[in-house]
Amino acid sequence: MKVYIDGKFYSEENAKISVFDHGLLYGDGIFEGIRAYNRRVFRMEEHIDRLFDSAKAILLTIPMSKEEITEAVLDTLRQNDVSEGYIRLVVTRGKGYLGLSPDRCKTPSVFIIAAKLELYPKEYYENGLSVVTVPTTRTNPSALNPAVKSLNYLNNIMAKVEGKLAGVEEVIMLNSEGLVAECSGDNIFVMKRGMLYTPPIYMGALGGITRDVIIQLAHKLDIPIQEQPLTRYDLFVADEMFLTGTGAEVIPVVQVDGRVIGDGKPGEKSRQLLDAFHHETQNTGTPI
Ligand code: PMP
Repeated sequence: MKVYIDGKFYSEENAKISVFDHGLLYGDGIFEGIRAYNRRVFRMEEHIDRLFDSAKAILLTIPMSKEEITEAVLDTLRQNDVSEGYIRLVVTRGKGYLGLSPDRCKTPSVFIIAAKLELYPKEYYENGLSVVTVPTTRTNPSALNPAVKSLNYLNNIMAKVEGKLAGVEEVIMLNSEGLVAECSGDNIFVMKRGMLYTPPIYMGALGGITRDVIIQLAHKLDIPIQEQPLTRYDLFVADEMFLTGTGAEVIPVVQVDGRVIGDGKPGEKSRQLLDAFHHETQNTGTPI
């Protein structure tokens, strides 16, 4: 594997970042998880835009233009002969010293890893997931907005660990008001009486690229959609539920906190949206 770091490629063993990088010392940095399908990068522009928005929010100046980053991502895929896979694009605050202040971090580091994808088990899609709500709430947007895809993922990791202890693969995270925010690494949708609902981003969620694609596809398929605050009750009584994310794509949920969703099988609209999503991933994107 060849890893891109600041304009050069390194073997996996030699792909190293300083222990004085504030990305490591403080989680001070941002990232993107991107997918390539069928020799194309899916929603590349949207991912690069979100990266630059995250950078702006934390006052980090990315030392490359959007075009240069795009080219570096494509080049990393070509160097690794990956036509179908997962891309991790990271920008750290850079090498500094032990104090919190980023003043001594002169140049942010950009690194890119292109990996073959480890797919989720097929049965998740066929049978649906069981999820639980975890005690750890999603970071309050006034503390660190979850819309920023920062390297500071301890909040999500704690939630994930609580899910593992409860024997589930993904978890529901509430915001500090007790309203549904998102999952540890996915956004949430429910269907109720023919209407699709997802919580607004200001509830404390990442503005998922997959979430946006699903909203666009719902419009295309004439499925009415509303962004609306949701309670756990709204999840319990939903006819269908599914999660969206770059890695997960669209995963149906059939149980929440012991309550069976709909008839306990992945719903029809979820299936329809998953199929439309696959069609989109296979037929659109930036050529590698
Ligand atoms: N929420 C969180 C916390 C995430 O980390 C992710 C990305 N895995 C998502 C939602 C889904 O976003 P996307 O569709 O852009 O992958």
